[in-house]
Amino acid sequence: GYPGRCPEDRRLSLDFKKMKQTKYIFVTGGVVSSLGKGLTAASLGTLLENRGLKVAIQKFDPYLNVDPGTMNPFQHGEVYVLDDGAETDLDLGHYERFTHSKLSRFNNLTSGQVYQAVLEKERKGEYLGKTVQVIPHVTDKIQDRIKQLAEITGADVIITEIGGTTGDIEGLPFLEAIREFALKVGYNNAVFVHVTYVPFIKAAGELKTKPTQQSVAKLREIGIAPHILVCRTEKPLGKELREKISMFCNVPYAAVIEEKDVDHSIYEVPLMLQREKMDSLICELLRLDVPPADMKDWQEIIRKLIAPQHRVRIGVVGKYIGLNDAYKSVYEAVIHGGVAQDCGVAIEKIDAEDIDVEHPEKSLKGLAGILVPGGFGERGTEGKIAAAKYARENKIPYLGLCLGMQIATIEFARNVLHLGEANSMEFDKETPDPVIWLMEEQKEVNKKGGTMRLGAQDCHIKENTLAARLYQSLVIQERHRHRFEFNSTYRKQFEEAGLVISGTTSTEDPLVEMIEITEHPFYIACQFHPEFQSKPNCSHPLFKGFIEACMNEPQKVRTNLEEPETP
Ligand code: GLN
Repeated sequence: GYPGRCPEDRRLSLDFKKMKQTKYIFVTGGVVSSLGKGLTAASLGTLLENRGLKVAIQKFDPYLNVDPGTMNPFQHGEVYVLDDGAETDLDLGHYERFTHSKLSRFNNLTSGQVYQAVLEKERKGEYLGKTVQVIPHVTDKIQDRIKQLAEITGADVIITEIGGTTGDIEGLPFLEAIREFALKVGYNNAVFVHVTYVPFIKAAGELKTKPTQQSVAKLREIGIAPHILVCRTEKPLGKELREKISMFCNVPYAAVIEEKDVDHSIYEVPLMLQREKMDSLICELLRLDVPPADMKDWQEIIRKLIAPQHRVRIGVVGKYIGLNDAYKSVYEAVIHGGVAQDCGVAIEKIDAEDIDVEHPEKSLKGLAGILVPGGFGERGTEGKIAAAKYARENKIPYLGLCLGMQIATIEFARNVLHLGEANSMEFDKETPDPVIWLMEEQKEVNKKGGTMRLGAQDCHIKENTLAARLYQSLVIQERHRHRFEFNSTYRKQFEEAGLVISGTTSTEDPLVEMIEITEHPFYIACQFHPEFQSKPNCSHPLFKGFIEACMNEPQKVRTNLEEPETP
């Protein structure tokens, strides 16, 4: 959670965690992708944590990229960055939001990493004399990573989610690895959960179980007989259908778990699985004698999501608006900010390229707040700059994240400092006023993968600023992913014109990390990604403050360290 802010989970102090035998849960997916396997794994994590167990969750991705860092968001969705700078799959975001588990690069493994490690070993001669093969060399490497996570975390339960869909060629080594692993750790120490799809066929007016049967058959062919089937469905399964799935997929009736599409929020999933007694069943199978999950706090979150006291409508101006997954953590963090303020947030997703730069009001009028998230490349930047200008001039709360800060900087340079052609060197190498330029350390970099400024870094906050009031702390840690930065040679010019540099990397010779405008109810932007450290039960201070500003009369949000007026 947010450092120093989220209470540590007290329940983890139960004696139970001294348990010697680690338990393993493997989550696979069938029929189609995008079933919400990651959410299911994370929700199971929530339930087990709330039973007093220490949980660690990891994701295995069968693709050959070493990490998703170089993939287009349209291909892959958001790249989720961890404290240690690992660029990972967005499911790890769910794991962090749903549990207290601390994640590192050991929580995400791709085929690319496995093959890279095996091939390096081969070149060193460590397999001398042998033929290097998928089985056992690749599968052993995969199993090592499960054991390694158990050792590093000391968790009672390791949940391992296998990406992709059963039947994919590239997923086979992973399935073989977990089959072997389960055999080795023994019968009561490993459980296979298969997340599958039960489609509703409109023309027949029926839910169909055949795809599920076939996907389970595919798994059994490989030697994995799932213990539990989580059935994703639009409509309730009903007794008959559950019986049918149970009979033809060879699982007990109680192990057919219904996971219906959520009505309001993904945070309902743990409660849904609890109603289906999935966690009880898992504990029974793994011989875990722990109390039932206490989900009172979680229920309160859902209450606020379903029936909030207040409502606001904000705009997110981005480039990958068509794909929900591309800004996953941003949308979630906004919702968490709403939970903290008992406020429902309607998010209007605005494609930056659709903004008429002369008349941005056509797209932005009536919004209570404007957020510009991170991004790469020139496309859409002029629309974002117009949005930042509109927010600044019309005193609409603005939150800029990473590129969103660079955009705010360019806008201020052009329209307040009157440097008409100011730009980022990312978008215009020839600009006379490169107010955003390549970081010094990036100048030598020519490889693309894993070479940005990545991961958690300290940021020093200036006293008496909005940032200081929101964070209630003068040193914070936030996660980064960027190559360009605020050009400090312009710093004085900016400050004289009223831009406050409220966060820097250090007290001397610093990089600019946060900017804000005082003559504005709420205008703040940061070079880092706060969205990666927000949870439904522990909103990030920037998002909490942003939503508060969106709800409030402008004058109620003050820009100094004094307590805000209580309404
Ligand atoms: N493209 C910008 C940079 O590399 C911003 C990166 C981001 O928003 N994550 O600095």
